[in-house]
Amino acid sequence: SGGESESKTYKVGIDTTYPPFEFEENGEYTGIDIDIINAIAESQGFKIEFNPMDFGGIIPALQAGQLDVAIAGMSITDERKKVVDFSDPYFDAGLSLVVSKDNTDITTLDDLKGKTVAVKSGTTGSKFAMDNESKYGYTVAQFEDSPSMFQEVSNGNADVLLEDYPVIAYAIAQSGLDLKTAGDRLTGDQYGIAVLKGENADLLEKINTGLQELRDSGEYDEILSKYIAE
Ligand code: GLN
Repeated sequence: SGGESESKTYKVGIDTTYPPFEFEENGEYTGIDIDIINAIAESQGFKIEFNPMDFGGIIPALQAGQLDVAIAGMSITDERKKVVDFSDPYFDAGLSLVVSKDNTDITTLDDLKGKTVAVKSGTTGSKFAMDNESKYGYTVAQFEDSPSMFQEVSNGNADVLLEDYPVIAYAIAQSGLDLKTAGDRLTGDQYGIAVLKGENADLLEKINTGLQELRDSGEYDEILSKYIAE
C-alpha cells in the first residue's frame, strides 16, 4: 500500500469529563482541546484517533505506549516533565478552592482544618492537596473524574474541592451547579500537549508548528471564543 504517502494515525488521550476543554455532545467529542488538536492534525498532515480515559490513566498510558499524544487540560509541571515532553503552553489556568454556594466559612487553606477535600486522581489539584494535607490538617478524598468530585461537595460529603478555575467557572455557568469558588486562586499554571519523553521529537515539532499557525491565523482565538464568553 501507500507506505510513506499514507499519513500516520496518532492515538490521542483525552479526558472527556473536562468541559470546556473536552467533553461529549451528541455522541461527538468537542471542546477547546478537541478543536485545537484537530486543527493541528489537519495543518500538519497527520490523523488522530481519540482515546477517552480517566485523567489519572493518561500519563501511564502514554508511558506504556498505548497513546502517542495527550491533550487533556494537562498542566505543565516539573514532575511530569520527567516522563513526558510538553508542547509550548496553550492556555493559562491554575487551582481554586470550590465550596457549596451557601458555604461561608471557607475562604483560605487555613479554614480547612478537620475538613474533607475532594480531588481528582492524578491531577495538580490532587498533588497540591496531598502536599499540604498535614500542614493544614484536612483529609483528602480522591475521585476518578470531575463530575464525581463536584457531586461530592454538592451533596455535602466533602466540604471543598480543588479544580482548575476555568473549568469550574464553565461548569457553574453551564450546568447551574450549586458551587462557587472561594478566596483567591491558589496556583497559576499552563496547559500543554504531551508526548512520551524523548521518543517523539518530530511529532512535538509538528504540534508546536501547528499551534503557532493557529495563533498567527486567529483560529486559536476563534476556538476559545466558541467555548468561553469574555
Ligand atoms: N490541569 C489539571 C492537571 O493537569 C487537571 C486536568 C484534568 O483534570 N483534566 O492535573
